[in-house]
Amino acid sequence: MELLDRLDALVGELALVQLDALEDGSLRAMAVGVERLAGQLRGIASQALGQIERRVPDGCAWWWRDETGLSGEAAGYAVRRSRDLRSMPVVSDAVVTGEISLEKAAALTGLVGRLDPQLIESFEPELVAGAKDRTVSGIHSWVRFLIAQNSEQDLVDEQAAAEAIRMLQYRLGPDGVVRGRFAIPAGAFEPVAAVIEPLARKQGEHDTRTAAQRRADALVDVFEAAARWMDLPQAGGQPVHVSYVLGAEWAAGQEGAPPAAGAWMGPMTRARAEAALCDARLHRVLLDENGQVRSLEAVNDQITRAQRRAVAARDQSCVAHGCNRPPAFCDVHHLISREDGGPTVLDNLALLCRRHHVMWHEGRILLPHLRVPWLRKPLDPPMVA
Ligand SMILES: [Zn+2]
Ligand SMILES: [Zn+2]
Repeated sequence: MELLDRLDALVGELALVQLDALEDGSLRAMAVGVERLAGQLRGIASQALGQIERRVPDGCAWWWRDETGLSGEAAGYAVRRSRDLRSMPVVSDAVVTGEISLEKAAALTGLVGRLDPQLIESFEPELVAGAKDRTVSGIHSWVRFLIAQNSEQDLVDEQAAAEAIRMLQYRLGPDGVVRGRFAIPAGAFEPVAAVIEPLARKQGEHDTRTAAQRRADALVDVFEAAARWMDLPQAGGQPVHVSYVLGAEWAAGQEGAPPAAGAWMGPMTRARAEAALCDARLHRVLLDENGQVRSLEAVNDQITRAQRRAVAARDQSCVAHGCNRPPAFCDVHHLISREDGGPTVLDNLALLCRRHHVMWHEGRILLPHLRVPWLRKPLDPPMVA
């Protein structure tokens, strides 16, 4: 086809441009212009594919796969997208004129088959205008909203289908990472996002965690807080609690002692176990040679409710610089550890969120990293008799 030959020749000329010889402005214009034209060309290719799809009743996805080298799945998706865009000619043309990307147009095709075709037709110009200012994922939300607005039943059906595939799986791997998958209906996930997202915001300018890392930390924080504060149903006649098993040899820091272990996830680092111990009630369980419990006694002074409230009122949040985790998400930390003779008194206690608490016990943050203006004198570990 002659037009294609001419375009091919023009692309060949473009490819010969000495990019490193271009001035900044021309180079930028080149990148932006070619990218935009490429998007428009993809729109034309998609329209052509849509016409082919109409003429080939038993499907053209395999042919498209073989011609383009796409995966079968990707080719099938491209054909479906082209077919759906055929019923949205204004949206489809907006891709060809460069107003919106093919990806945005594809997101709008979520309406096809869900709304009355005449309604879509009358609404197309508004769809194009609305898509311009939205991201692809923003368009997905918008499309769901439009469908729900038009027909509550559609939303009910969608969520019922989502209910059917709901699941959560997780498994501890040999590398000490718990990995999992989940699928939750959007409606049911609302409170999850509402809790996780604010907690996953960047904590100050020194926070170098990725968004995904911040979300993972937030998830753990929520469950730490739940285990601590919530009236969870009893399990086996006992309130839900997080328990760790620490041998006497471990506590004494003996070489080769079995590591501290949690009931569900097994061995954990000393720093993490020490952070848990810092704000825990400890019991000594003595076992006899047959493994029978010989005695059970409380061995540490538990932080009282009154002390906890006082520390929360004074510190307001985690005292690590730049961190603003509220008290409900914080441990009460002993600045001088209990093993070093640190007493359970207000001057020796401070709020730390679990992440910063573990970092302290790892030695990665120290007193100067904490916001503790109420600390009147430097804390020296008292002599251990
Ligand atoms: Zn601590
Ligand atoms: Zn913190």
